[in-house]
Amino acid sequence: MKNIAVIGTGYVGLVSGVCFSEAGNHVICCDIDQGKINDLKRGIIPIFEPGLNQLIDKNVARNRLCFTSDIPKAIQRAEVIIIAVGTPMSRTGEADLTHVKQVAKTIGKHLNGYKIIVNKSTVPVGTGKMVKNLISEISRDQYAFDVVSNPEFLREGVAVKDTMQMERAVIGATSAKAMEVMVQLHKPFTTKVVKTTIESAEMIKYAANAFLATKISFMNDIANICERAGADVTKVSEGIGLDSRIGQKFLQAGVGFGGSCFPKDTAALLHIAESFGYDFKLIKAVMETNIGQRVQIIKKVESILGSLEGKSISILGLAFKPNTNDMRYAPALDIIPQLNHLGANVKTFDPIAIPEAKKQLGYICSYSDDLYETIRGTDACVILTGWKEIKSLDLEKTKRLMNHPFVIDGRNLFDLTMMQNLGFTYVSVGRPVVH
Ligand code: NAD
Repeated sequence: MKNIAVIGTGYVGLVSGVCFSEAGNHVICCDIDQGKINDLKRGIIPIFEPGLNQLIDKNVARNRLCFTSDIPKAIQRAEVIIIAVGTPMSRTGEADLTHVKQVAKTIGKHLNGYKIIVNKSTVPVGTGKMVKNLISEISRDQYAFDVVSNPEFLREGVAVKDTMQMERAVIGATSAKAMEVMVQLHKPFTTKVVKTTIESAEMIKYAANAFLATKISFMNDIANICERAGADVTKVSEGIGLDSRIGQKFLQAGVGFGGSCFPKDTAALLHIAESFGYDFKLIKAVMETNIGQRVQIIKKVESILGSLEGKSISILGLAFKPNTNDMRYAPALDIIPQLNHLGANVKTFDPIAIPEAKKQLGYICSYSDDLYETIRGTDACVILTGWKEIKSLDLEKTKRLMNHPFVIDGRNLFDLTMMQNLGFTYVSVGRPVVH
């Protein structure tokens, strides 16, 4: 069992810190955000993740998990330090490493003995080396240390499960000692470990996300052709997904990908490729198709309502996917301002993402966690997230509450024949329009 400090208590840092404590380690989760730490100390969890609250309560009670903003102290007590700070997209698209550099400097300043420094943040190839150099420089090589790359693959909404039963761990290390410690730390979660160099581990993370994003954009391109050809993309997905070489996951056409990872990681990978003089055309097309899907939704609304001036539109779902309150790069953030710009009055529903959405959208729309109040009196209803509440919508009631029975579904939640029989004009993605 190890003493671990996790620096950066966001989605990744909090979930992995909590899971490492559940596995028996002593974990200190640190953050520069004092408000977040104060909340965590009082039992207020800043993110919505099924199962997380219970694990936090349990491990805090066992004295295996605590929270602090005293990062130097946490560094000095730890044998293993995990960097899990954000690496947001900079204005030019590349990964912004400001937080990672800041943490490396803090570690260098407070190093007091041999430690393993694990980079869990998603970072461009070469960052591990940069972190090592920064720590060496600032600590003046007074103490030995190893840097490891251990990219994170958890999915928001199922993050605890993804960590406790991970499909694989990727560990990039140059030192056999650090590799062994990392393999042992992951034993409770998985025995499938890809042992590699730091550079390859850094590349694996971007390649994984870019590949998944490519699957989504590929299906969205197929969906756009299906719409013109009168084919049904859900059947195309089923038909190709049953081929085990292709697989069924990530083949759902829709409004495109969002969230904190795919948009920024595809953009960052494009920059990494450019930095090595490689023109990664495929990933450019993936990004372009993705933005196009958001534009398509607006066009579909206009195709039904004509001018949007003065029209009332309900948006069902704000989060970029169900079971998360994460609004980063959510399609709603592009679609709602555009509808607003075109003169529509926008009412929105989301079960949990409203506080996060408000921070980004402000008061250009109204918000409610009451589905039917949102739908009431609107001219069209646009579905952007596949929340279970939306999937189980009472469609007869919906029709009664709306001014017109117009549904534009960016997630293909409903059966075409059923919608037709209920008398809706139903426009989805990659499927024929039904009236
Ligand atoms: P986040 O924004 O939710 O959390 C980052 C945290 O780091 C914040 O709480 C912030 O206050 C803190 N922080 C910033 N600078 C700090 C500093 N100098 N010292 C201490 N704390 C500091 O980010 P996240 O979603 O957890 O992502 C973290 C990394 O993991 C990113 O590189 C991301 O790409 C990667 N990742 C994220 C996911 C995901 O689903 N969210 C999945 C896999 C990988």
